Parts: sequence; structure tokens; C-alpha cells
Amino acid sequence: MLIARTLDELRRHCATLRERCGSLGLVPTMGALHEGHMALVRAAAAHGAGVVTSIFVNPLQFGPTEDLARYPRDEAGDLAQLAARGCHVAWLPDLATMYPPDDATTISVEGPALRWEGDARPGHFRGVATVCAKLFGQVRPDRAYFGEKDWQQLQVVSRMVADLRLPLEIVGVPTVREADGLALSSRNRFLLPGERRQAVHLFAALEAAAHRLAQGEGADPVLDEARASLTREGFAVDYLALVDGPTLAPLPAARPLARLIAAARLGSVRLIDNMAV
Ligand code: AMP
Repeated sequence: MLIARTLDELRRHCATLRERCGSLGLVPTMGALHEGHMALVRAAAAHGAGVVTSIFVNPLQFGPTEDLARYPRDEAGDLAQLAARGCHVAWLPDLATMYPPDDATTISVEGPALRWEGDARPGHFRGVATVCAKLFGQVRPDRAYFGEKDWQQLQVVSRMVADLRLPLEIVGVPTVREADGLALSSRNRFLLPGERRQAVHLFAALEAAAHRLAQGEGADPVLDEARASLTREGFAVDYLALVDGPTLAPLPAARPLARLIAAARLGSVRLIDNMAV
């Protein structure tokens, strides 16, 4: 696996890789890699493309009161995992490469970015869209892989790529979970042992609600009950909603492409999850 730390190195490595493999797949990450990220690397490799994984903890997508400083970082561990899983190029830009001091452009997506995470984390999707646009311009991948775990992010990036007619395909990859259902996340390591046991209730509440919604029950009572059960289990619920998958608009009942989405806090850890209905 080749490592690029400057744009010059990246361009050279990507040109060689494109010649060898015919196309490029990009996996954007913030590091602290786990099996969820590896599912994206696997999906990219399965396509036969050259696989580029970026690791960059993007300050622009963190709010002023959020956990940028304590976001987990483990470059050596990340590189070892990527090399073992068939990644061809690791792209590790520094802050000045991604955000030069004279930078004057950000990307603001509306539509699917407006509610839920957009409400709870003002500026978050502006940071995500901007860093993704930069990564797409730097790597020029044919495909970029994003986890369904961050459902709204996947829709926001897809919307941006469609609206700007960017010449790449966005591919969504199903959420990888622990055996008890908890979605893998770099933030799970901050759960205290008791919180880790409680955390499974997020998945369980979503699953129970999705089952009832799929049977045709209306969203309001089902969601109210799910919120109440999460509160009883010790969560502070930011939102739990039934939405249209691509637009994130709330729905009164299940229909094709409906998605159940949730964000809830346990102690200092904010968990998000979602599932198809
Ligand atoms: P992050 O490093 O948290 O920004 O995540 C980088 C990419 O990995 C995003 O596209 C996430 O949606 C994806 N991802 C994170 N956790 C999982 C998971 N448990 N299953 C699938 N994809 C994931």
C-alpha cells in the first residue's frame, strides 16, 4: 500500500493506480477504522478498482461544542488495517492541504441536509459537503463509498454530486453491526460498560418500530412509544423519525423507500442509527 501525504504524491499514486486498475474507488474516512470502514474498502475492491482511502479528521464538520479534540486518532493502526484489507493508496492530507489559509469556498447543501443532523449540528453538512467535494477533486474517483450508517450524510453527498453533475457514482454500503445489533462507530469506544449494555436498545427500539410500521401502523403512536422506551432505558433522544429515504422529509406512515432514523445520547456519547422499513 502506498501512502500519500502531499497532493503531488497523491496525483502520482492515483495516476499509476488508474493505469493498473482502470478505475478508482474512494473511501473517505476520519480514521479510527473498524469493520464498518472495512466493509467500504471491501466494496470498493470488489469492483476491481484501485482503492484509495482518505483519513482526515475534518474540523469543518465539528461544531464549536463538539468532540474534535477527543476524536480518536490511530494512524499506525489504521494503516495496518488498510494494508491488510487490500487498500492501494492511503491519502493522509494535513490541515493546510485541505484548508489553505486563503480558502474562500464552502459547499452548502439544502434539501436533505436541512433537518435532523442538520438541525442538531448546525454547519455539520456544510463541512461534510465541502470536504467531500475537495476529496473528489483531489482523487477524481469513478466511485465513492459511504456507509448507510450515516444515512443522511449519504443522501446529502448524493444530492451534491447530482446537483453539481460531478462525474462519479456514490455507492451506499449497508451498516455493519456488533452481534447484539449496535452499529459499529468510532465513538462506541467512549461508552462506559453500563452504557455499552444500554446501547443495544437503540437498535432494538428501531427494529421493533420498523416492524410495526411495516405492518401499516401510523407513525405517530409507534414513534412516541419508541421514544418513551429509549428514555426509560436511559437515552436522551435527539430525534427519532420516519422519513422518506432520499429527501429526509417526515412521513405519516411507511411507504416504499421509507427510513427510520434516530439520534440519541447516552452519557457523553451521541449514537445515530437508522434502518429501512
Ligand atoms: P467516519 O470515519 O465515521 O466519518 O466514517 C467514514 C465512513 O464509514 C462513512 O461513510 C460512514 O458512514 C462509514 N461507516 C461508519 N460506521 C459504519 C458502519 N458501522 N457500517 C458501515 N459503514 C460505516
